[in-house]
Amino acid sequence: MSRVAVVGAGTMGNGIAHVFAQHGWETALIDVSEYALAGGLATIRKNLERLEKKGAISHQLSADTLGRIKTSTSLEAAKDAEIVVEAATENPKIKFAIFTALSRLLPPPTILASNTSSISITELAARTDRPGQVIGMHFMNPVPVMNLVEVIRGKATSDETVAKTIEVVKALGKTSVEVNDAPGFVSNRVLMPMINEAIFCVQDGIATAEAVDEVMKLGMSHPLGPLALADLIGLDVCLSIMHVLQDGLDKQKYRPAPLLEKMVTAGKLGRKSGQGFYAYRD
Ligand code: NAD
Repeated sequence: MSRVAVVGAGTMGNGIAHVFAQHGWETALIDVSEYALAGGLATIRKNLERLEKKGAISHQLSADTLGRIKTSTSLEAAKDAEIVVEAATENPKIKFAIFTALSRLLPPPTILASNTSSISITELAARTDRPGQVIGMHFMNPVPVMNLVEVIRGKATSDETVAKTIEVVKALGKTSVEVNDAPGFVSNRVLMPMINEAIFCVQDGIATAEAVDEVMKLGMSHPLGPLALADLIGLDVCLSIMHVLQDGLDKQKYRPAPLLEKMVTAGKLGRKSGQGFYAYRD
C-alpha cells in the first residue's frame, strides 16, 4: 500500500499524516477547516525541522515528506487511498457522518480505520457498507514519537483487515497491540480514570497539579505526570472519553471530576488552547 488519506488535521491527524508521509506514503490530509489544515502543515514542518536538527532524518527526507502531503477540505481527496485513517473530533455524530460518506465514496476494499480514543469501532462499522474493513488504529500522542498503535478489532472486522493493518503499522516503524472493541479499549480504560482521579486530587485540595504530577513521576516512574498528560491529550478529549466510559460501563465509577467539566466549559483545554493545568506559550 502507498496511498493514505487522513481525515482531521488536529493534534493527532497531523502527526499521523507526518508519519505516513515520512515512510513514503502519498498522503491526503483532509479537514473541514482551512485554518486547521494550515496549522497541521505548520506543525509537521516544525517537527520535521526538529528531527532534521537532531540528525534523526536528512534534509532530503524532510523535504520529500512535506512533498508527499496534499491538503484538502473535501473528502473527495480520499478517493485513491488504500487506507483512510479518520482522526476528526471525538464526537460520535461527526465520526458516523464521516464513515457513511467515506463508504459511499470509496471502493469496498479500502480499509476505513479510526483513531478514536473511545467510540465503538463496531458502531462506526455499522455506518458503512463494509463492516469487515473497518478497524481501530489508535495512535498515541505525540504520534511521531510514540511507538504503540492499539489495533482495535470490531465485532465484524475481518482477519484480513487486522493482518493488513498490523502490516501497515509495522511499515510505519511502530508496534501494534491487538485488542477487542470495548469502551475506552485498554489504553483509555486504564489511563483516563487515573487522570480523572488526579483531577479530583486537585479539586479536593489534596495537592497542587505540580505536586500530583511529581508524585506520579518520582514515585511511579511515569515520564509525564497525569495532569501534564491531560493537557497534552486535550481536556475536552479527556472529558468525552470519561462520558464514553460512563455510558458504556458504569455511570458512577467513571463520573468525570466536576473540575474537569468546569475547565472544558471555560475553554481551558490544555496545550491546544494555551491553558490547562499549566500555561503554555506556544
Ligand atoms: P483536535 O481537536 O486537535 O482535531 C480534530 C480535527 O478534526 C479538527 O482540526 C477539526 O477541524 C477536524 N474535523 C472536525 N470535523 C471534521 C469533519 N467532518 N471532517 C474532517 N475534519 C473534521 O482533536 P485530536 O486531539 O487530534 O483528536 C482526533 C481524534 O484522535 C479523536 O478521535 C481523539 O479521540 C483521538 N485521539 C486523541 C489523542 C490525543 O492525545 N489528543 C490521542 C489518541 C487518539
